[in-house]
Amino acid sequence: MNIKDAKIQLKNLRTKLNQWAREYYVNDNPSVDDVEYDKCMQELKNLESMFPELITPESISQKVGGIVSEKFEKHIHKYPMLSLGDIFSWEEFQNFNKQVAKVTNTLENEYTAELKIDGLSISLIYQNGTLQSGVTRGDGIVGENVTTNVKTIKSIPLQINNKDLIEVRGEIFLSKSEFKKINEERLLNGEPLFANPRNAAAGTLRQLDSSIVAKRNLDGFLYYYFNEKQPEKTQLDSINKIESLGLKTNPETKLCKNLKEVKNYIDVYTKKRIELDYEIDGIVFKLNDKQLQEEVGYTAKNPKWAIAYKFPAEIKETKLLDIFPTV
Ligand code: NAD
Repeated sequence: MNIKDAKIQLKNLRTKLNQWAREYYVNDNPSVDDVEYDKCMQELKNLESMFPELITPESISQKVGGIVSEKFEKHIHKYPMLSLGDIFSWEEFQNFNKQVAKVTNTLENEYTAELKIDGLSISLIYQNGTLQSGVTRGDGIVGENVTTNVKTIKSIPLQINNKDLIEVRGEIFLSKSEFKKINEERLLNGEPLFANPRNAAAGTLRQLDSSIVAKRNLDGFLYYYFNEKQPEKTQLDSINKIESLGLKTNPETKLCKNLKEVKNYIDVYTKKRIELDYEIDGIVFKLNDKQLQEEVGYTAKNPKWAIAYKFPAEIKETKLLDIFPTV
């Protein structure tokens, strides 16, 4: 392909992806499924790597996905809320691990394996033992203050037994059973249906009326912990710390001590995902040692010490209720 054709092709791909991102992040109402979006994004990235001179900072491949709604007060994150690089095969995981090994000097790195919950990111800030704020990821730098809504989520404590300034991050989601219940009610009331649990959770958390949020039984799994006074040494310690504060973590999280255990986790959860009462769209592997994480570093968009392994397209769960109009 010559540069002139590449420019045209890039423009088409970026226009399409920007429109889909707006539908997904702002309207909570996607018109294509995630597999199609990911395929198109991959095409864009491939083309940009063939023609790096055509990469612009505004390109959707260079940005953290979300868009900040005007409906909520804005909140600047103390540390950016980044996205994750994604991979789609075991070979790609091995390549990711080789990049990490350039810093750690070993291929047998320890990773936490965490299910990639298909919801939306949240940052919770506690001070003097009290929940101060709940903020969405937004564009990664600025998020939406949804504290009033977060306070209605039963599994998120309003008080914790630690007075330090603590930030905990994780994922807010709707279980499959709650999603089904909500859509059944909406069908009875003649209201448009939610396309999937992720969009229902995002639409709910970004509701202006918190009494509606309170009725919907949102839930949350937390996985990042920041406490400058007492930082944790590993990702697994962070998860244990979060749990000890009375916040919910995902029970399927495991420490993989070597590549064999990583491969085994992928094989087990590729099959087991269907049995879970919440949707997952992959597995997140995070280098366990925090000192090594800092040495491996970051791109503008992702940590280089973590990766999202996305499940292959053919086993993506079919979305329910496609035949009805959705929001
Ligand atoms: P991402 O969702 O692929 O990965 C980053 C996010 O993973 C984090 O922000 C966090 O919220 C989440 N996550 C869940 N469990 C986690 C865990 N254990 N540890 C760390 N993070 C965890 O990236 P993104 O930038 O949020 O979104 C991109 C994805 O969204 C696309 O790959 C696509 O699948 C989907 N999308 C779909 C459409 C569409 O139209 N269908 C449009 C835009 C985006």
